[in-house]
This record gives sequence, C-alpha cells and structure tokens, in this order.
Amino acid sequence: MELLGLYLSVPFCRSKCTYCNFASGVYPANYHERYVARLEDDLRAIRSRARTWDATLPAAVDSIYLGGGTPTLLSPALLRRLFIALRREFAILPTAEITVECAPGQIPPGALDSLVECGVNRVSFGVQSFIDSEARLTGRLHTRAIALEDIRRVQAAGIRDVSVDLIAGLPGQTLDSWFESLAILADSGVDHASVYMLEVDDDSRLGRELLVNGGRYHAHDVPADDLIAELYTEAIPFLAGHGLAQYEISNFARPGNESLHNLKYWRRDPYLGFGLDAHSMLRARSGDALRFATIDDLDGYLAAPSWPDSARPLSREEALEEAWFLGLRLNEGVSLAALREEFSAPAIRDCLDTVQDLESDGLLAFSDGDRVALTPRGRLLSNEVFARFLAEPALV
Ligand code: SF4
Repeated sequence: MELLGLYLSVPFCRSKCTYCNFASGVYPANYHERYVARLEDDLRAIRSRARTWDATLPAAVDSIYLGGGTPTLLSPALLRRLFIALRREFAILPTAEITVECAPGQIPPGALDSLVECGVNRVSFGVQSFIDSEARLTGRLHTRAIALEDIRRVQAAGIRDVSVDLIAGLPGQTLDSWFESLAILADSGVDHASVYMLEVDDDSRLGRELLVNGGRYHAHDVPADDLIAELYTEAIPFLAGHGLAQYEISNFARPGNESLHNLKYWRRDPYLGFGLDAHSMLRARSGDALRFATIDDLDGYLAAPSWPDSARPLSREEALEEAWFLGLRLNEGVSLAALREEFSAPAIRDCLDTVQDLESDGLLAFSDGDRVALTPRGRLLSNEVFARFLAEPALV
C-alpha cells in the first residue's frame, strides 16, 4: 500500500540566521492565526483538488514533518489546531513518524507539552554549531548549554528520536572547533544527524556577502572551500565511529533511525507540502509524477487562492533525471533494474555512457552489478554529477 508524507511549513523565526536561505522570516505574531487558518483551508481543500488533477491520494499517512521556520513559535493552541486539522483530513497511522523542527532555546514548556500531546515523536534541532562564538556570529540565539539542555528536555518528555543539524563552513570554524562540535553531538546520544556544507547563494545574507566580498556578516571568517570540504569529509568517519552511519549526502543515523519522511523525497514517494514555499509530489492515475509548489512570499501566499487549478505532470525525461539525481543522493544508490522496469531498457542504456564516464572519473561506483552510487569524491562534487544526468537523450 502506498503511503503519504505530509510537510507543513511554518515560516516564522525569532531572528533571521545569516546563512539561512529558506523562505522564513521575522513576522508579527498577528500573522500566526491567519497562517494556521490558511493551512486549515488548504488541508480541507486538497482532496477535491487532487480529484480535479486526476491525482491519486494514498489513503494513509506515515510521516508528518513540521519545518520552516520555527514551528514552536506558534502558540500551543495553534499547534493543537494544526494537528486536529491534520487528523480530521487524513488517516494517520499510529506508527507514523511525526517530526517537528526546533531551534534550541525556543521551546517554551507549553510548546513542548503540546508537541507531546499532538503525538510528535521526533524533533530535529537546528544547532549548526555547539561552539558559542560560531553560533553567535550567525545570529543563532542559543549556547551549547542551552542546546544540550533542550535535547535532554525533549528526550525526558518522551520524544526519543532526536536529530541535530550542523553546518560545515560557518564563520570562525576551524578543524579543531568542528571536531569539538561533532564530539558533543556524538556524546549527546542523538540517533540522527544532518551535516550540511554552507551554501553560498543570493538567498542568504551571508551567501550574498560572500559573493560580493562584504564584511557585515563575517564573510571574511568563512573557511576556505578546501577546508569546508575537509570538515564535511572528516565528519563521515567520525560519525560512523560513533554509530551514526551516512545514508544520504547530508544525513547520518543509527540503524533504523533514518528519517522516514526525508527518504520519501529521495525515493520519489508521494508527499504533500502545505504552507509557504512547500513542494509536493503526487502520482497521476496514469502513473506520471505530478509536482507543484506554493510561492515563497508570505503575503502573496495568504492572498492567493488555495492550490493551483492544475498540476503539471513531469515528462518521462524529467522523471528519469529525477530518478538519477534524487536516488544518487542516497548511499544505497540507484538500482539499474528498477530504473529499467520504470523507464524501459533502451532509456537506461542511453544513460550508461554517462555512468561509465563518471565511473572513470572516480565519481560513481557500481556494486552487485546492479547498483550505482556516488563515491566519497562524488559526494563532494555531487552537483557536478547530477548536472551530467540532465537532458539525457529522449526516451523511446
Ligand atoms: S535557519 Fe532556521 S531558525 Fe534560522 S532563520 Fe532559517 S529557518 Fe529560521
């Protein structure tokens, strides 16, 4: 039975972190109720809208993810409203993974109580660094002590599955300070970790500053690219040595603690995204993937009608490209047999030249004669690898 994942974006933050390129921001609290009311409308409308798109909506939900943003900035009453609406509109399995992203230092006691009451069983903490000076330079509002205390509070409240995010490449970071953050993460006993390399793009203040060599957000203290690559590379054996095995380019877990929700993105399983800048993937009755997304401007989103009139099916070429660049993110890689079954043998034969070129470059490796996966070097250069799979010859 195909199961559905639900993502809800809650784009409110207490302050904007300098490296953040998400559609989130600091908004007056009077947005909160309007936003939740809008999510309730979207939840109510999706079933009939999916029918007009001729999309299949799996009957049961096995993962929910509240991200953003800082969902715990919503009042306990609004958090409860969201979960009541979710349970009214969807059959949520009793075993469903229900994750909420939290910022350390921003989980008031009432919010923690309401998370437990709403059935949340996984918390993902955006720590980014356990070094106080590094966290402060990027606008994070927590210290190491606060982060560790919040991990303990969440676990003591009965939410056993905890994940911690770190970023490699923050201003002021060194190899020593990075190992210190990794060691604290490992000692905290969490079962899941995400390690991201700093993204340099126009969508964050630090990224913009790096592009133009500015000085306001400490761009001059950002480690050189080679050191960032080394930080990321060193994290992999270190975390493995502490029981957290890499299973995706940026994700590490103890066995059985992989993020069920995020696996849906990489395995192209169906999910619905609600709220600002939220992406969805459903299957049309024909089997084609339908992808659609909401806009990333909060006032525009609140003023726009619920859901678009139509959802564009991916072409077979686009779906195959996705199968490569999403599947290769996973350490398990891509199964050629599964691709042949989904896209036809000639279509996959057309891709094999690219695979072989990348294998000779040391970026991809075969295993079991069927699976293709990134090598460690391929993970560092993953964007280059993915670009090679775009615009393959037309499918037959
Ligand atoms: S990193 Fe998280 S807490 Fe910081 S601004 Fe972005 S969404 Fe908000």
